[in-house]
Amino acid sequence: MKLGIFGGTFNPIHYGHLINAEFIRSEFALDMIMLVPARRPVHKELDGEVPSRDRYRMARLAVRGVRGYDVSRIEIDRDEPSYTITTVRSLMSLYPGSELFLIIGEDSLAEMDSWREPGRLRELVNLIVMRRPGVDARRAAPAGDGSVAWADNPLIDISSSAIRERIRSGKSVRYMLPDRVLHYALKKGIYAR
Ligand code: ATP
Repeated sequence: MKLGIFGGTFNPIHYGHLINAEFIRSEFALDMIMLVPARRPVHKELDGEVPSRDRYRMARLAVRGVRGYDVSRIEIDRDEPSYTITTVRSLMSLYPGSELFLIIGEDSLAEMDSWREPGRLRELVNLIVMRRPGVDARRAAPAGDGSVAWADNPLIDISSSAIRERIRSGKSVRYMLPDRVLHYALKKGIYAR
């Protein structure tokens, strides 16, 4: 099985994530993409401390009933911070014999050298880098051996932070994220605080 691993804070998950995930699933003929919400991101302060349970539920709502996707609790059930290498090792034992594809945005690529065991990580996965507007990380070659595939994905200028900001200031975010996700966030008042 060709398994894509797509980690993020997903605070909230949006169409920048989903359109690109689907583009990559199709382009790289992946059998499944596992969305992996981070419990506590290592490199990021979580805006407003949105509980991982809610970010996980929003990711589930986004792909509910959609073939080729699943959402993993692997990081949110763990006590320590979310290190990608630990997640990859867990998924390797859950899906023995699978070929793993780690999907990250260009902005994350630039940070990869500071991740835990980046060289080892690169040996274990095929890296797929998504283009992202306003970021040009093409020269930031990460350390270690291993393949890097640059996706020719559409440039979608949507970010979770822009969505949070817009909700807080009363602006519309319709069509930036799935309706089901938006309704959940609004009903629970997640970004209204
Ligand atoms: P925030 O605005 O809070 O920083 P975000 O929109 O970057 O959040 P994350 O959950 O942190 O969302 O992103 C998870 C992964 O998806 C990261 O590797 C990020 O680079 C990538 N990503 C997010 N949005 C896009 C986008 N619009 N286009 C390409 N990649 C994206």
